[in-house]
Amino acid sequence: MTNSNHYDAIIIGTGPGGLGAAFHLIQNKPDLKILMIEKENTSTGGLRNDCKMNFSYPIGFPLDNWSKEEAEHYLEMVESILKPVLLPKKNIDIYEKRAETLGVELLNIRQSHLGTDGGLALIKELCASLEKLNVTIKLAVEAENITTGSKTIETNQGTFSYDHLIVAPGRHGFQYLQKMMHSLGIFFIDNVLDVGIRVETRMDHYPIVRDYYDPKFHFPGKVRTFCTNSNSAYVVQEKYQSQGGQPFYSVNGHAWSAEKNRQNNLVNFAMLKTIRLTEPLASGHRYGEILGLQADLLGGGKPIMQRVGDFRLSKRSKTSSFNTDLYDFAPTLKGSTPGDISLAMPSKILRAIWKSMKQLDTIIPGVLHPSTIMYYPEIKMYANKPEFLDRYFRVHDNIYMIGDGAGTSRGITGAWASGIRAAEGILKK
Ligand SMILES: Cc1cc2nc3c(=O)[nH]c(=O)nc-3n(C[C@H](O)[C@H](O)[C@H](O)COP(=O)(O)OP(=O)(O)OC[C@H]3O[C@@H](n4cnc5c(N)ncnc54)[C@H](O)[C@@H]3O)c2cc1C
Repeated sequence: MTNSNHYDAIIIGTGPGGLGAAFHLIQNKPDLKILMIEKENTSTGGLRNDCKMNFSYPIGFPLDNWSKEEAEHYLEMVESILKPVLLPKKNIDIYEKRAETLGVELLNIRQSHLGTDGGLALIKELCASLEKLNVTIKLAVEAENITTGSKTIETNQGTFSYDHLIVAPGRHGFQYLQKMMHSLGIFFIDNVLDVGIRVETRMDHYPIVRDYYDPKFHFPGKVRTFCTNSNSAYVVQEKYQSQGGQPFYSVNGHAWSAEKNRQNNLVNFAMLKTIRLTEPLASGHRYGEILGLQADLLGGGKPIMQRVGDFRLSKRSKTSSFNTDLYDFAPTLKGSTPGDISLAMPSKILRAIWKSMKQLDTIIPGVLHPSTIMYYPEIKMYANKPEFLDRYFRVHDNIYMIGDGAGTSRGITGAWASGIRAAEGILKK
């Protein structure tokens, strides 16, 4: 290996976790030789999906790893680089009071929203800034084995050596991360996951989004609203692969910016229940896979969608459910299979989510209109919890694991903050 393949710091993944680390390192020590590697042909992870950014604790900051004071300290640093334009909010006290009477909490969060197209523009800007600061970004390079003795990583494009390594492969890199933790002998658990549905309806049936872009309701029973998109909003599917190599899907949602001419006056958001597995401790990831595969089987290889009107009558949705005069908008995830989500969802999760939906309909009457669509499954398997050696997310000599894949974050700003924290660990050394 030539010396040109040696770097002071290598960062695997160009998502917000990796970017946060790269910016903090290079701004504090401009002579560092830094390499970022990304397996995709384009940068850069989850910044490109809708790109709404939350700047209030605890959104995106798992409580195991972040105190309020810590998160707020780092959020200030994140804000100073991302310079968000915060969205105004209206009528919050009205919604808060309605929620309170039901034992539901509405979190008042500082948010910005760029949209998927705005996120792409931001990514280009951020990468160009890093390259100007002499950070090397290599696309279409997939990290494989890590050898701690020689401090090298193998990739599909050759071997690189490092003094410090930050691994930030995101939720999709979950299996890669687990493989690395096994090979490096890092103890971890992954006992928590979120399972639920994505709701899609007309904005007129969920008008709160005109007052508050991504309203965060927390219901009793560990159910919450998550990732609300509106105005030019679309439900999408993400493809995953089980350990046995079988594909399955999780739904998600995003929106284009107001400037893009794709307005459909629809809104979508997730209703997620957090599941924490205890005795006998099982893998949350494996459980999520099995739920995903079960839905895939019943949906004929696609996510399942059901109209609220059909669900209430305990009947499956059929193609005809999506054609009557009552159903006044077309599903945006066109490939989904009309069916019965209650056949695929574990009863405890379904009951908790349906109860929360009814509470939401009391706070914002209309969301349970018969035309509202529920897509299943939406599964978040980001709960690898490596045993960290220090507060900088170090897991092995000079190796740090951060971001959604390592469970140090659950969103863009938390991932970015995790990157700064790992970078601080490196700078301290
Ligand atoms: C559809 C959708 C919408 C979302 N909307 C929002 C939102 O509006 N607001 C919000 O805060 N969060 C949102 N999220 C979540 C957000 O994207 C994540 O929280 C965030 O991106 C996590 O950052 P990360 O750096 O940990 O990982 P990622 O952003 O996933 O980045 C990891 C990167 O590592 C690369 N990688 C993986 N394995 C390897 C490997 N072996 N070698 C090299 N590269 C590798 C991946 O290709 C990826 O680019 C959304 C997610 C999705 C899927």
